[in-house]
Amino acid sequence: MTSPSKRPGLELFSGPDAPSESDLYKCVHCGFCLEACPTYLETGLEAESPRGRIALMKAVNEGRIGITDTVVRHWDLCIQCRACEIACPSGVPYGRLIEATMQQVKERRKVGLLARLASDIALKQVFPHQGRLAMLVGGMRMYQLSGLQKMVRKSGVLKLFPGDLAEMESSLPVLPRSVFKARGQVIPAQGEKRARVALLSGCVMPLVNGPEMNAVVRVLSRNGCEVVVTRGQVCCGAVNTHVGDLETARDLAKRNIDVFMAGGVDAVIVASAGCGSRMKEYDHLLRQDDQYAEKAIQFSEKVKDIHEFLVDLPFEEPGGHLDYRVTYQDSCHLSNGQRVTAQPRILLRSIPGIEFVELSNANMCCGAGGTYTVTERDFSLRVLDTKMNAVKETGADVIATANPGCLLQLQYGAQREGLDLKIRYVTDLLDESYRLEPKV
Ligand code: SF4
Ligand code: SF4
Repeated sequence: MTSPSKRPGLELFSGPDAPSESDLYKCVHCGFCLEACPTYLETGLEAESPRGRIALMKAVNEGRIGITDTVVRHWDLCIQCRACEIACPSGVPYGRLIEATMQQVKERRKVGLLARLASDIALKQVFPHQGRLAMLVGGMRMYQLSGLQKMVRKSGVLKLFPGDLAEMESSLPVLPRSVFKARGQVIPAQGEKRARVALLSGCVMPLVNGPEMNAVVRVLSRNGCEVVVTRGQVCCGAVNTHVGDLETARDLAKRNIDVFMAGGVDAVIVASAGCGSRMKEYDHLLRQDDQYAEKAIQFSEKVKDIHEFLVDLPFEEPGGHLDYRVTYQDSCHLSNGQRVTAQPRILLRSIPGIEFVELSNANMCCGAGGTYTVTERDFSLRVLDTKMNAVKETGADVIATANPGCLLQLQYGAQREGLDLKIRYVTDLLDESYRLEPKV
């Protein structure tokens, strides 16, 4: 639907990854999505709403405006939480639209040589290589364990650097000593074997939440699953997709499809919501690939979020008593990307002793959003503050969630507010309850 008055010389969408017109023109501008959008609610601006961002995409598609810095700014500020998809009565696949749009932006973004180099190194040389990422996180661990972090914080030296480096540094999570590694290990099922599953280890989660990954394995094993932690698996590609680097994302997807499909498993289990959402959509990512399109469809059908998998199995009710008041924050990529909302709550409510209290607007983003906490720091913290105000009203002492990005963001939110709150994975609480069961 290109306008006859298309203005010459404008940067427009082009190529096979451009936002599809059939997706774009599903939007009828009704505005039902506005109240679901955290950036619209924070600013009250149409251009920071889903409807406004789609209108800009349409305008570029029709050649009325080009991909200028001003236009890109509105797309950049989108957290990609996909809450608008859930609210939309017309079925606009906003996630696909913004993903395709960011790919077009990435091709044209005017940044300095150093910034481009840093971005390329992070996206192509670090995240896709678990060993390199582990070295980077290992350096951070040494920084904490050696006492250097304490000295740096005490000295105030970071305040001398441009930007808000001191504030960013204060949000570093305390890293555990142990990491989780995908070495091809096979963990046997406890009791009668009910399924053989592969587990996605992921990129960040095994390094910052190693003990929690072990808890995931124990929960699966406790429920009769033989767990294969597939060797050769790589990052799911979600971070790359988020910033429009579809080329690397496709390469990672193909490598994962090859190693996981060779394993002869009933399901590929994912404990990180962002990764699960990405992997369930490998079929769309590889739809134009003659060699992988069909394989990607089969693979995506095998991918299961751990909460939905456990409830479908069905899981064995835990017997250990936990004396916690717990609320639950929906991870956007679980509730909006995968439409999994009831299952984590079913699991939490099954734990004896837990007092479950709903969080108001639990499905509203916490401001984490992939690289958003770094690239849009101020806005990310504004959204986080709104979230923490809602958390305070629950009186909970534990927030349960299902995604490492949310967990780290909420931990920082609790730290900023000085709240005595624990942020835990649902599976971690389930594991704790199983482990407290009286021995028979
Ligand atoms: S995205 Fe959906 S809800 Fe939002 S304006 Fe368009 S049609 Fe309406
Ligand atoms: S993805 Fe989230 S932040 Fe972006 S337009 Fe939709 S609701 Fe708003």
